[in-house]
Amino acid sequence: MKVGQKLFNSILPPFAELSRAESDILKEMYPEINWLNVRYFEGLPWYMKLSNAIGTALPDSYNRKRVNVYFNKYKETPVKQRLLLLVHESFHIQQYHELGSMNRNNKGMGFNRKFIHFYFGWYFQGLYYSFFKEKMSWSSSKAKAYRQHPMEVPAYNQEAEFEKKISSLLSQYSGRYPELICTDAQLPDNPSFVFHFSGGLLALFISIIKPVIELLIIVIALILGGRLNKKRNLQ
Ligand SMILES: [Zn+2]
Repeated sequence: MKVGQKLFNSILPPFAELSRAESDILKEMYPEINWLNVRYFEGLPWYMKLSNAIGTALPDSYNRKRVNVYFNKYKETPVKQRLLLLVHESFHIQQYHELGSMNRNNKGMGFNRKFIHFYFGWYFQGLYYSFFKEKMSWSSSKAKAYRQHPMEVPAYNQEAEFEKKISSLLSQYSGRYPELICTDAQLPDNPSFVFHFSGGLLALFISIIKPVIELLIIVIALILGGRLNKKRNLQ
């Protein structure tokens, strides 16, 4: 792939379309979500390239109603793993929804949304306690702050619960598991003030600096021949 295209894709990766079966399951599990405001991309955005995330649900910097879900190596991921990832990321979409961080009622701009304030705040709080109070190593502290993050725990639980149910009947899901219908993402309270405030500050900073960097990269990418990717189905 040409450098210009690579650069372009790092800002706006190719769109991914879910299969009919996948979107039907998500619609049934998260009935309150306006899926028109959720877009899927095949590839992580530039600022996540060094992370080992397999998927992530992030605010759209240029459309306050929208949340974007990015998948790393989506096509190479087996169908079942993909579905589990979708169920997990969609749980975060439910959290965006409940925190008023998407659709028309989102007041924030870019990353400066309540979901991100909560997410960063709780992450910082977890990191602080593991590293300074429990004297864990930096890498174990990061791992713990993530896996015990009060917005990740219920998402992982939902994913695990779903995995138990679907093992043998991916195609016959509809109507069988009303207990998996999620209209309550079990949100935690505010993080403590200091962490909530620093989370908010970081979110505000990102929401300002990210568009500036992206505009610069897009101009360079266009000059080097990068172009918008056409929508295509993953199947
Ligand atoms: Zn997650």
